[in-house]
Amino acid sequence: MAVNRLKKLGLKLTPQRLAILNLLEGNKKHPSAEEIYSQLKPRFPSLSPATVYNTLEVLAKAGELQEVRIRGDKKHFDSNPAPHGHFLCRICQSIYDLDVEPLEMQTPFSVKGHLVEGYTLYFYGICPVCQEGSKTKLN
Ligand SMILES: [Zn+2]
Ligand SMILES: [Zn+2]
Repeated sequence: MAVNRLKKLGLKLTPQRLAILNLLEGNKKHPSAEEIYSQLKPRFPSLSPATVYNTLEVLAKAGELQEVRIRGDKKHFDSNPAPHGHFLCRICQSIYDLDVEPLEMQTPFSVKGHLVEGYTLYFYGICPVCQEGSKTKLN
């Protein structure tokens, strides 16, 4: 699957690029470019940050990846390009997929004459794990 995606985009098939795609495939953690780089660096000592950034940028532009800018300063990446909500936990800094009905809408859709082709939906707060953690601390 990853191979076909790269071929479709006319990207040269390199072990590094394949590793980037494989790392993102089915990954629910929304890693940043920096995190992807540091995870792959031990396996690919010749890997440069520029290769990671360029590959991610090309894939995002082609609509194969979704850029998640929930933290503003950092870009995170999701292998699921379909619009969906994201939640940032202010305590553990984890990013979760969060779909809230009826906001889960297939694009394009029309609202009061505006044709909506895409949207971003960011939520901020405390995740279930961290809420559990603060409960145990209180007891
Ligand atoms: Zn949390
Ligand atoms: Zn997501």
